Parts: sequence; structure tokens; C-alpha cells
Amino acid sequence: MAEVRPVADVGRAPVPRLLTGWGRTAPTRAAVIAPDGPAGPARAGSGDLSGLADAVLASSAVVASGAVAGSRPGPARGLIARGLGRSYGDAAQNAGGTVVDMTALTRVTAIDLAAGTVTAGAGLSLDALMRIVLPLGFFVPVTPGTRYVTLGGALASDIHGKNHHVDGSFSDHVLAFDLMTGTGEIITVTPGGAPDAFAATAGGMGLSGIVTAVTLRLLPVATSRMRVDTERVGGLDELMGRMAARDDDYRYSVAWIDTLARGASMGRAVLTRGDHAAPDELPAKAARDPLRFAPHPRLVAPDVFPSRALNRLSVRAFNELWYRRAPVRHTGLESIATFFHPLDGVGDWNRVYGPRGFVQYQFVVPFGAEETVRTAVTRLSDARCPSFLAVLKRFGPGNGHPLSFPAPGWTLALDIPAGLPGLVGLLDGLDELVAGAGGRVYLSKDSRLRPDLLAAMYPGLDRWRELRAKLDPTGVFVSDLARRLALTTGPAVGPPLAGR
Ligand SMILES: Cc1cc2nc3c(=O)[nH]c(=O)nc-3n(C[C@H](O)[C@H](O)[C@H](O)COP(=O)(O)OP(=O)(O)OC[C@H]3O[C@@H](n4cnc5c(N)ncnc54)[C@H](O)[C@@H]3O)c2cc1C
Repeated sequence: MAEVRPVADVGRAPVPRLLTGWGRTAPTRAAVIAPDGPAGPARAGSGDLSGLADAVLASSAVVASGAVAGSRPGPARGLIARGLGRSYGDAAQNAGGTVVDMTALTRVTAIDLAAGTVTAGAGLSLDALMRIVLPLGFFVPVTPGTRYVTLGGALASDIHGKNHHVDGSFSDHVLAFDLMTGTGEIITVTPGGAPDAFAATAGGMGLSGIVTAVTLRLLPVATSRMRVDTERVGGLDELMGRMAARDDDYRYSVAWIDTLARGASMGRAVLTRGDHAAPDELPAKAARDPLRFAPHPRLVAPDVFPSRALNRLSVRAFNELWYRRAPVRHTGLESIATFFHPLDGVGDWNRVYGPRGFVQYQFVVPFGAEETVRTAVTRLSDARCPSFLAVLKRFGPGNGHPLSFPAPGWTLALDIPAGLPGLVGLLDGLDELVAGAGGRVYLSKDSRLRPDLLAAMYPGLDRWRELRAKLDPTGVFVSDLARRLALTTGPAVGPPLAGR
């Protein structure tokens, strides 16, 4: 039977740990507990994870009693699940409360080759999953820009990839999942069998419960290589025109934009679009092992970068190099790691932003609001915003789950050093622009949105609150993100902190 163990024992109490998101801003302290690994995924009623259920129940009772939080992190401030901590902001943090580290739940309990499905613990990473299923001729149906996310984190953020316009988002491929609710009970959720619980959890940022296992439909592939068309594009209007005209001919599409380019080259970009290669496209050596997938172990970035290591000059030099080394037009083969996860080659690359960290900003606006994208890129370029990671994609139809981010339209995502002068005003202004155009920002990347804009960006917010409350009547699931945005109940989630 799986037990909940403190990450380290001090008088039987979990040791508080300082946690951040991938952007390394706003650290907060929480008591971290973890279901023992390598525990298999619990199935409803199996009795597994009873220790975790006890922790949920105990916290729920204290939250319901309205007890004031003590000076140490504890049950009065509720719980939140955490995967690999790749959300950029504070979604997997819980100041003064408990954080449940799910990364030990990695057991794969079923692979059905005929149906093309896999069932695994919610802590399994997409990296580990790919290493298992690619040699069997399958790929994950949706991958973000890093393989180091868990199945539970992918579902809770309802992540999207470069193929959203063709394949939708992660939850569109989830056939079932097990969810520990606020009563400590584990229910099996399917889109047809429990649509409300499904809708509350897909994109629900861990606030509907703890996902313990996921059954996923995989994508059959014949090789582990990608056929990629790369083209350099001189400016934003031309880029959007080319994407609108031909994105649908490709399964995957993304454009990298130089946010520092100005004037006529404002929005100049490198557009890459591709598909899984067929066996007869591979050179002889690769054809001998067409499904080989063995990305190299990662280099690790040292934690020595000063806050100013990334400045306009270094980013300008990087962007210039990136743009110039891209071919004007080229078709070639790339590995999955190079095409989808170029940053995964360097572990902890987020350290290059220095101790102050960075903000990731991503919005989507509907088709027809191209002028908003143009204004946003112009403002970023006018502010000389040094981002070496700005990407533009086109989303296809959304799935209607109230907090799921993707909606049909243009999505722009970029990293910005947190210390950039004027950043708060710049992004607040962009938020208003985006909300005014009927768009929204991505909660999984957010660290600074003004709460009053949330309802306009997510019109299904009230419905989500109702669905969520049925799964978590006492409000035991809570995170820093939830408190900051008053996401679950409106203002004041949980008792105030007595000091950290
Ligand atoms: C380099 C990089 C590139 C990225 N590219 C993309 C992209 O292209 N598209 C995209 O959509 N996202 C992208 N992301 C964001 C990332 O995919 C999401 O933030 C994802 O949710 C992170 O998964 P995680 O396991 O690290 O979860 P965490 O960051 O630990 O947690 C994220 C959320 O999931 C919840 N959660 C985690 N595990 C569980 C569980 N078992 N049960 C319930 N809730 C849970 C947490 O409470 C939290 O709300 C990128 C991130 C990075 C660092």
C-alpha cells in the first residue's frame, strides 16, 4: 500500500521547502509530501494511496473548521499537486500549506498496442513515456516545448503543442483519468461518464483534485524523424499571411519571432512546419532503426548567471544569429528532440535569467484580431523587450472546458527577464488589449495577471467554480495562483498566513 511520506522527517512532520515555478519568481514555502514511489496508479477502490487520502481528509477537516494557520506550513492552508514544476508561475505552489509531489507515480499499468492507448501514473513524464512508446511505433498526441512535464501536469494545464490546429489539446486525447477529490475518494473520470469532473479538471490547474492516473490515446508513427520545412520571413504581416495560407497542410507549425527587430523588419521570423517522416524518406543508416529515440543526456546550466547576463545586446546578437543561420527556404529531416524540444538539451536553462528569474507571457486572440497581434509585437519591439524565445502559433477550435486556454486564433508566447524596467505597465497594457479583443492569457504561464481581468478572459469561470465545488466542497485544493487570482471562490481563499 502506498503511504504518504514526508520529503524529509523532522519529528514526523514534513520539512518545509521553498518552491518556485520554472520562471523562478515569487518563491513560497510549503510542506512537501509525496505518495511513495514507485507506486502504481491507484484505480478506484483499490485502496492504494490511502495515505494521500488521509492527508487530503485531514487538511479538509482543518480548512473546514476555519482554523488559523500556524507559523509552519500546515494543513490549514490546503493542498495542491505538483508535477515537474514546468509551469512558469505559481500554479504548483501553496504558501504555508501542503504541496503533493506526484513525480513518484510513474508506473505504466497498461499499453494496448491494438487500440494505441496507454495507462500510467500521473507522475510519469512525457520524456519517459516517449522512450517507452516510440520504439513501439507511437508518439504522444500533444507535446509542449519540453518533454519534462508529467501526465497530471499536462492534463491540469490542458497543454497544447505545435499541432493544436489539427489535433486539439492534451485533454482531447485523454480517455480516462483517476481523480482524488476533496473527500479523499478516487473516482474514475471519462469524458462521457463524468463530463462535469472532466471539464473541471482539464485546464483546472490542479484545483479540482489530484489526478493519480491517466489513460491516453497515442498517435501511431512509422519513424521517429520529422520532415521539416523551414523558411525565413521578413516581417509580421507576411508571416501571418503565410501561416494562414498553408498551416493546414502541416500537422505541426510554429514561428519564432525576433521581438527586437524594428521598422520594416518588425516581426521577422523563422517559420518551421513539419510532419512525421515516412520510412522511405530516411537515409539508409536511419532506416535501419526508424523508431530510434535516445536523446542525449542533458548538460546542466550552472547557477552563476547574474541578472544582467541576458540583456538587449546579448539577445540581439542571439536573434540576429538565429535569423541569419536559418535557411531562406529548406526542407530536411530533424529528430523529435530537435524539432519539438530544443531547450531540453540544456538542463535548468532557466538559470540563464539570473536570480531574479523571468516572466513568460502567452495570450491568444481570435482570428480577425490580427491587429491586436500586430499592436502587441509593436509594443514589445518599441519597449526593446529582450526575448529570445517568442513564438507565434495558430490554434484550432477549443474544447469548451471552462479553464482550458486554447481557443481558435493567434497565440503569442514569450519569455521576458523579470527585472525589465517598465515590465508591469507593458504587460498590464497588453492584458487589457487582449481581453478587449476577446482573448485570454495562459494561466499555466501566468505570474502577474490582474484578478479583475480573469472573468472577461475566461467567460466560463463561474461554471467552472460550480463544477469544481462539487468535487471539493471544503476548498481543500488551493495554490498560490488560486489565491492571487481569487480563482476558486472570489476574494480570500484560506486563512491568512501567520508569517513565514
Ligand atoms: C520550456 C517549456 C516549454 C513549454 N511549452 C509549452 C507549450 O508549448 N504548450 C503548453 O501548453 N505548455 C508549455 N509549457 C508549460 C507546461 O507544459 C505546463 O506548465 C505543464 O502543466 C507543466 O507540467 P508539470 O508536470 O511540470 O506540472 P507543474 O508545473 O508541476 O504543475 C502545473 C499545474 O498542474 C497541476 N498538477 C500537476 N500534477 C498534477 C496532478 N497529478 N493532479 C492534478 N493537478 C496536477 C499543478 O497543481 C499546477 O496547477 C512549457 C513549459 C516549459 C518550461
